[in-house]
Amino acid sequence: MAATSEQIAKLRTAYQAELAGGTDRFFLPRRTGCPWCLGPDLRVKLRTVDHVQRKPGRFVLDECLSCGHVFQNPRLSQEGLDFYYRDFYDGLGAETTARMFEGRGSEKRFQRSVRALLPYTRPRRWLDVGTAHGHFPASAGKLLPRTRFDGLDMGESVLLARRQGRITEAHQGQLTDLAEGMAGRYDAVSMFHYLEHTLDPHSELAAARTALDHGGHLLIEVPDPESLTGRLLGNLWMPWFQPQHLNFIPLSNLCDRLTGLGFTVVAAERTDAHIPVDLVCAVWFLLGRVLPPDDVPWAATRPTRAAHAARWALVWAAAPFLLAAYGADLLLDPLLRRSRFSNAYRVIARRD
Ligand SMILES: [Zn+2]
Repeated sequence: MAATSEQIAKLRTAYQAELAGGTDRFFLPRRTGCPWCLGPDLRVKLRTVDHVQRKPGRFVLDECLSCGHVFQNPRLSQEGLDFYYRDFYDGLGAETTARMFEGRGSEKRFQRSVRALLPYTRPRRWLDVGTAHGHFPASAGKLLPRTRFDGLDMGESVLLARRQGRITEAHQGQLTDLAEGMAGRYDAVSMFHYLEHTLDPHSELAAARTALDHGGHLLIEVPDPESLTGRLLGNLWMPWFQPQHLNFIPLSNLCDRLTGLGFTVVAAERTDAHIPVDLVCAVWFLLGRVLPPDDVPWAATRPTRAAHAARWALVWAAAPFLLAAYGADLLLDPLLRRSRFSNAYRVIARRD
């Protein structure tokens, strides 16, 4: 059910109190070295805003000239993360976010990922890290009815996933804190578009290794910072997804780190992991720049009736362009996923 204006008005008081001091305190001091290789040579890759929720704030992604790692700099503080994540996966945004992972498109994508793993193993116990509402385990379970799926996430969505029967056990918290307690328990761990959200991907990979049994497999899918679409669309490229995405790891860096941790990389590829939404999202982000704002609690005032009507008139007027862009995403999909325009990659690694 969509939030009522009364609910939004109530939240507005809290958001406005939080924003009264500005957004500077949502950021840590700027880093002078690369968080991946510690190299000192950085350059600004792009500057952008929150295109999705349109919360206030400006964000910068830096690129390391030594290793190609791309990261948010300055990075959000814990207070900043709390502010920008609020009402996205839960609260006001819960329904919209859950809807993004429902439906045939997501199910087919998730099942492709499962099929990619099957040549190497048929897991009995599988942990999905960053499971949100448990949509991956729900889709994967249809292909692997005998596999037990557990889920891990920070938010309350993981408890909902258990109540709805999408996972058997819910682990609420950080993998890096919980891994010791589940050491060697899983023969598959998946991380779908999870690592890019984390503060320290290296610790996450080490924790995944701890949770895996010997011979167990780790399945990772993340945005590809080397994608040509990312270069072409600049800050309109959906996978840059600021401010939530903190780290973007080039494929070869991830493979090297996994090898260093005692994994054997058994598959690394771009084709199959592509998600065909770049063009429709870019058009929506462009539109977001001219649309009168929606009624959101992080805006100081509620939009007037005229502004509200103008917003919806513009959305309807733009609908054919959005549909055309989505059509182009689907039409170009077979071509893009086979080229460096693919927007994501997948790595499967075995714990030795
Ligand atoms: Zn680096």
